[in-house]
Amino acid sequence: MIPDKWTQRSSFGPGIRYNGLMASTCQLVDTQHRRITYLRVSVTDRCNLRCVYCMPEKVEWKPRAEILSYEEILRIVSVARELGVRKVRVTGGEPLVRHGVPELLRRLMALGIEERCLTTNGIRFAEQAEDLRAAGLQRVNISLDTLDPDKFRRITRGGELSRVLESLDKALELGLQPRINVVAMRGFNEDELPALARLSLDRPLTVRFIEVMPFGGQSPDPRLRREAPDKPIDCEAREVDPLSMDEVRAIVGISPAVTLRQVEGELPVLNTLGPAEYTQLPGAMGRLGFIASMHEHICERCNRVRLTADGWLKPCLLGSERVLVRDAARSGTDDDIRAAFGELMRIKPVRGTRDVGWEEAMAGIGG
Ligand code: SAM
Ligand code: SF4
Repeated sequence: MIPDKWTQRSSFGPGIRYNGLMASTCQLVDTQHRRITYLRVSVTDRCNLRCVYCMPEKVEWKPRAEILSYEEILRIVSVARELGVRKVRVTGGEPLVRHGVPELLRRLMALGIEERCLTTNGIRFAEQAEDLRAAGLQRVNISLDTLDPDKFRRITRGGELSRVLESLDKALELGLQPRINVVAMRGFNEDELPALARLSLDRPLTVRFIEVMPFGGQSPDPRLRREAPDKPIDCEAREVDPLSMDEVRAIVGISPAVTLRQVEGELPVLNTLGPAEYTQLPGAMGRLGFIASMHEHICERCNRVRLTADGWLKPCLLGSERVLVRDAARSGTDDDIRAAFGELMRIKPVRGTRDVGWEEAMAGIGG
């Protein structure tokens, strides 16, 4: 049920009701008055790794015919830009298994997307980093859960740690302000969390710790729901036992009281509308971030939506709500794409409901 204030019809398409201010400025604002300025674009559901918390070993990829072409993605982004989206993150799956990401970035820049970021597992990043930088990439997130090559091979089911470290070096060399995403797992990398945090001491990078979320490759374990989010995930590899951010802070030696939303210093101010809380180790060049996706209510400051590789707009990572935009991008008008965004604002949940399909991997959604 749409509240009364959402009564005035707007240019967002048939049946989509918007308040007058937003209709006149044509910005993406949801029913909770959250302004959406950030779109995460998954360019593929495929990946060259199989992280145990993300996807099962054998994956059925989405049919190629359903995957958006770059032209279709750009058409959607162009409408999103017009509606106020300023930042795009290219992700996946592993985005760099798809050819042409530099060209995509170049065209995103030409569309006027002000912030252009990438999330990658780092396996193929080093070899493309210069092209990506030249194409307008500004920042990169690289996933890295362990500094031990054997453990890395185990958690990713076959990945080569040295390639990720090479990518990190390259990202630093090119000034891409890397953020390292660390999924915190009891009994797997908890002993390494202080060492991972210390990577921020003498490097201008951010180490972000993330709570495990219940996605594909894991069986539907009700213990992971809201009622008891601390319980182990009964996943294929039986290796993923989540640590809460309170536990991570304690292990790393940071008390919650010193966590800052925003740290101003040598580094440019980070976009603090995101889900992470940032802080620094004393005297560190870089920062630490904590993403308590399963514990804290980070939803009220949410500024993002997602486009899946097969053309669904998703208002929330942790919910099943979605709107198909593929047909509009293939054979519809820009008004049809606008209508899909309008519907997306209408259905964006107040809070993540965590009713995502268990079969759906984070990779398919665009993590
Ligand atoms: N392949 C790229 C990568 O690994 O960075 C981009 C896609 S990946 C889905 C994006 C981020 O989601 C990674 O940092 C990964 O660690 C994180 N991720 C995947 N599955 C997750 C889960 N079940 N819980 C928490 N984070 C997860
Ligand atoms: Fe691939 Fe990234 Fe998922 Fe790992 S987390 S399986 S690298 S998509």
